[in-house]
Amino acid sequence: MNIAPRPLPPSKSQVRRDKQPPEVPQNVYDSDRNIYYEKGKFLGKGGFAHCYEFINRETRQMVAGKVVPKSLLVKQYQRDKMAQEVQIHRNLSHPNVVKLFHFFEDRLNVYITLELCPRRSLMELHKRRRAVTEPEARYFTYHIVQGVQYLHAINIIHRDLKLGNLFLNDNMEVKIGDFGLATTMKGDERKTTLCGTPNYIAPEVLKKLGHSFEVDIWAVGCILYILLFGTPPFESSTLEETYSRIKHNNYTIPVEANSSAATLIRCLLHQSPERRPHAAQILRDRFFTNGYMPERLPVSCLSMVPKFG
Ligand code: ADP
Repeated sequence: MNIAPRPLPPSKSQVRRDKQPPEVPQNVYDSDRNIYYEKGKFLGKGGFAHCYEFINRETRQMVAGKVVPKSLLVKQYQRDKMAQEVQIHRNLSHPNVVKLFHFFEDRLNVYITLELCPRRSLMELHKRRRAVTEPEARYFTYHIVQGVQYLHAINIIHRDLKLGNLFLNDNMEVKIGDFGLATTMKGDERKTTLCGTPNYIAPEVLKKLGHSFEVDIWAVGCILYILLFGTPPFESSTLEETYSRIKHNNYTIPVEANSSAATLIRCLLHQSPERRPHAAQILRDRFFTNGYMPERLPVSCLSMVPKFG
């Protein structure tokens, strides 16, 4: 869905079909800071960017280098979108948000250096494990909500929280990344346009009622549901049916679910945005305070059920 008033930019999947891997030199030079990076392992690709390990030649420190070919930034809206993403992301500093270090360009590409998250994202974890244990779901969700609380406190809505944008470092700490759809809120405005399709889209966005911070809380509800039960709450075989289920708040919680998890999910996925809890309220919820929350998780939980205790 795209409800932008201007001519529609190509969707990420359209861009992906046309896109060749960028030409990236073996040694990338940040001339603003006089830093050379060796290009290391390929980490993954998104709608616009390819990501590689970048190794600082002097310090050997490794970062993630997001590379966007200038050929994909020909149109003004493409440059504006990238500038907006960097502008929002560069000022963020929180343990549960991917750190943006620098951005620079050379003849071929624009580069963004980011905190390296070598354990990929919750999407890969989900593909291997499907539903995770309740303590793991509690651990991941708590950390995601801490990141969301920080963003909302400085008036930023992420607008595309999803498993694939929740990255993991070697300590299995969750880091919110990809600020491509993020926006800054002023006063008590409500946003009416959203370029791009958030994965866990909230009913007020579909109904074009104006949206705000609560769309991130809705997405957290979808994420917690998937972590606990292994499938998205509104999943169906067609997009039309999924959107209809979202608009009608038509989902079911498995009967065997823990009652405090079920209660929290119902609050997060409340049809009315104003009835959803704020991030700080979520962190005080019984689901987190009354159940076992591991202090850390082993890397082995990427592929195996961990043993606690
Ligand atoms: P786009 O903005 O084009 O969608 P993404 O931000 O999704 O690009 O990044 C593309 C891919 O690069 C991700 O799916 C992931 O595999 C990898 N990636 C992105 N950021 C990091 C990071 N900080 N650490 C490790 N890998 C990353």
